[in-house]
Amino acid sequence: MGKLLGLSCRECGRLAPVEGTSYCEECFAPLEPAYDYEAVRAEVSRELWASRPADIWRYRELLPLLGPPEAALPVGFTPLLPARKLGRVLGHRVLFIKNDAVNYPTLSFKDRVVAVALNKAIELGYDTIACSSTGNLANSVAAQAAFAGLKAVVFVPAELEEAKLVNTRIYGATLVRVDGNYDAVNRLCTQIAQEQRWAFVNVNLRPYYAEGSKTVGYEIAEQLGWRLPDAVVVPMAGGSLIGRVHKAFGELGKLGLVEPRPVKIFGAQASGCAPIVRAVQAGREQIVPEKPNTIARSLAIGNPADGLFAARVIRDSGGWGAHVSDQEIIEGIRLLASCEGVFTETAGGVTVASFRRLLEEGRIQPDETTVLCITGNGLKTIDAVCGVGGEEFLIAPKLAEFKRVVLGATRFQQPVAFAEAAPIVSGGR
Ligand SMILES: *Cc1c(COP(=O)(O)O)cnc(C)c1O
Ligand SMILES: [Zn+2]
Repeated sequence: MGKLLGLSCRECGRLAPVEGTSYCEECFAPLEPAYDYEAVRAEVSRELWASRPADIWRYRELLPLLGPPEAALPVGFTPLLPARKLGRVLGHRVLFIKNDAVNYPTLSFKDRVVAVALNKAIELGYDTIACSSTGNLANSVAAQAAFAGLKAVVFVPAELEEAKLVNTRIYGATLVRVDGNYDAVNRLCTQIAQEQRWAFVNVNLRPYYAEGSKTVGYEIAEQLGWRLPDAVVVPMAGGSLIGRVHKAFGELGKLGLVEPRPVKIFGAQASGCAPIVRAVQAGREQIVPEKPNTIARSLAIGNPADGLFAARVIRDSGGWGAHVSDQEIIEGIRLLASCEGVFTETAGGVTVASFRRLLEEGRIQPDETTVLCITGNGLKTIDAVCGVGGEEFLIAPKLAEFKRVVLGATRFQQPVAFAEAAPIVSGGR
């Protein structure tokens, strides 16, 4: 541990001390943790990391804590699954899904960022943890604060899916529903963070929060047998995850833990809120804020904090962006469930449908090893897919009726026959 040098400005490079701040005092650009990479290189190896328990803490030399995490839940190391049938249906040969729909403890990738930010908050001496959230972050803050014994206050748009509200309340967090969209909620939280000594994981603790997302990239490389893929498709809300996956691949190359190679980074959004994708497609060096209107509420950030950085990463890596309609999102959820047995929330539907579009447009080639980041669980957005699925019967409890109605009508159709395909490299736990 202890490889953190400070916080460095992403624009002017100025080094700031390790505290609960997210912006450079000189130029107001975002700060990000700076590490002593020489010291990391001297200490870590594939073998060392692989010998540790299967969770995000195995990569602790590249996380921004000074000591061992105090509230160390087994977060992360979710399965990397070969998606053979989905690949066959869509016309792709080497497809994987990184399945954060089963992340611990609250079934989304946000468990990673909260784990890091919350432990940093403990190091910095905060007793109250807070966030502005589109839903998943609220769930994770509430659950992990309960485990750590911290007070939790979460702010969400009033009109959130019921499942996301229930999954916040149950842990005993203070839930503040704000009559406005996420961007209004976030503005309010920025003001509150200036007055209260609270650790807002995605506001004043954002530099540490964002680093938690890097573990998605480390795990993908390790689970591919310490190789980098050709392409990844990442759903975008504030635009933080996508940049950190890219950063993680770069760090592993720099440290000699994988063969360095360019990875094309693709960004996915819903058409009803696609400010980053539209900036990429228009070649614009500027994000034009939007008013969100989509079923993908976990991605509904109209004025994304890391939007510009995300757009640059996509463009500089040779990737591209796609945005998809609500109808395509639902079809994406259905396809993933029926092909691979993985039920994702609307954000995952965005990823699958955007991948489909990028493949059709020739932006991704069928033989390029591609990883789809599935970031959340379908049980949290069931309203979006009510009534979607296979055939269904209602019968009296009589054998004759079973034979007449069910056997007489059905072909027990599975959407796709099982196919031989991509080699399995390695799974998670
Ligand atoms: C928050 C979230 C994202 C995107 O995260 P950013 O880092 O803000 O771009 C993707 N998927 C799900 C399910 C999320 O909750
Ligand atoms: Zn600066």
